[in-house]
Amino acid sequence: MRLLECDVVIVGAGPAGSLTARTAAENGVDVILIEEHDVVGTPVSCAEGLSLNGVLDAGVEPKEPYVSQKITRAHVFAPNLKYVELTSESWVGFSLNRNYFDKALGDNAVKAGVKLYNNTTVTGVYKEKNKVAGVDAIQNGEKIRIKAKITVGADGYSSIVRRSAGMQRFYSDYVSCAQYTIDNLKLDDPEKNEFYLGVERAPGGYAWVFPKNEKVANIGIGVRKIHTLPAVEYLKKFIKEDPRFSQGKIIYTCGGITPASGILDKIVDDNLILVGDAAGQIVPCTGAGIHSSIEAGKMAGKEAAEAIKIGDTTKERLTKYRDQFDKYWGKRIRDSRKIVEMLDKFKDDDLNSLAEIITNEEILALANGENTASALARIVARSPGKIVKLMAAYLF
Ligand SMILES: Cc1cc2nc3c(=O)[nH]c(=O)nc-3n(C[C@H](O)[C@H](O)[C@H](O)COP(=O)(O)OP(=O)(O)OC[C@H]3O[C@@H](n4cnc5c(N)ncnc54)[C@H](O)[C@@H]3O)c2cc1C
Repeated sequence: MRLLECDVVIVGAGPAGSLTARTAAENGVDVILIEEHDVVGTPVSCAEGLSLNGVLDAGVEPKEPYVSQKITRAHVFAPNLKYVELTSESWVGFSLNRNYFDKALGDNAVKAGVKLYNNTTVTGVYKEKNKVAGVDAIQNGEKIRIKAKITVGADGYSSIVRRSAGMQRFYSDYVSCAQYTIDNLKLDDPEKNEFYLGVERAPGGYAWVFPKNEKVANIGIGVRKIHTLPAVEYLKKFIKEDPRFSQGKIIYTCGGITPASGILDKIVDDNLILVGDAAGQIVPCTGAGIHSSIEAGKMAGKEAAEAIKIGDTTKERLTKYRDQFDKYWGKRIRDSRKIVEMLDKFKDDDLNSLAEIITNEEILALANGENTASALARIVARSPGKIVKLMAAYLF
């Protein structure tokens, strides 16, 4: 077995891993970033929606090839297909080309001095005296051991780092997703994202149409808990029922799982940090995890570098990263999770009633977990009794 050593070893070159790696290296420590695929960013399993702020916070210019389509509004459809239009003068988003976007994040990490080992699969953490001391991996058929002062699990929802370190194995709630990228469409407004709610249409989740240009869109569906069929069966039905998609040509298929239960209780241990989907750092109501992973990565990278410099990599010290993340993102994620639990009680008729009274700003607040308390209070003030009852337990 070949032996390597570094200050910080990071498993997974998604947004969380690349930003952790780049920030740690920029703060003066020696970093190895490991990615199992040949090329960072490929294959893509994502609807590719990200706000302008998310793109800028990642350190990427909002231009081609990293982004493919500017998004300025959204329609949120109730089960009866009535919709609420979401617009905001202060909000712009994009459909990304995530293969280019994630590759750019990895390249930026390398430019900062990170050693990237692609085509390398981590098989588990390596322990000394019962504490994580690095990882074991396979590179081109050869076994390697990378010893590190801090190991970072940025390896997505099923994180081998998390599980092999003896931390939580599974999320108590998650979304199963299926998506087709469809060409040959004639979209009336490519700057508009569409979201479709409904217990029948997308049990526990929603369907989406995210344009990549006027002819191509990512069309997908996420389902939770109460679904009786695989996500792809709901997706096929959704596409079949919309005449706009009848001439469409599927050019790419993907799917995946996103955590929906919120941040795990334990995301640091002695010499160990979890970040991104591996830590459950995803906004549960929307399933958006790119921006939060980027921000978490920056915080984790900075704390890892500082912990190494002062020679204290204990869980007590690394908890500073969690505390920092919790201040803004942690609260958003917790509040958004409460909205998911509230909406789980809504039947299709209730969702139709809610759509009659809810405003643009209130939908944004609830979905994103921002200012949820005041949004809920305003909605309740003008809701029919049945909706008030469904919401009552969730008033903050
Ligand atoms: C269908 C779908 C649609 C989505 N749409 C959106 C969206 O529109 N907007 C949004 O914000 N979020 C979306 N998300 C969520 C978003 O993709 C994730 O939250 C985000 O990618 C998390 O980043 P990450 O770096 O934590 O993990 P990932 O991006 O999953 O990266 C993990 C990396 O670790 C690597 N890896 C895993 N195991 C190993 C191993 N053993 N050894 C080496 N490398 C390993 C993987 O190859 C991967 O590169 C979507 C998710 C899905 C499934």
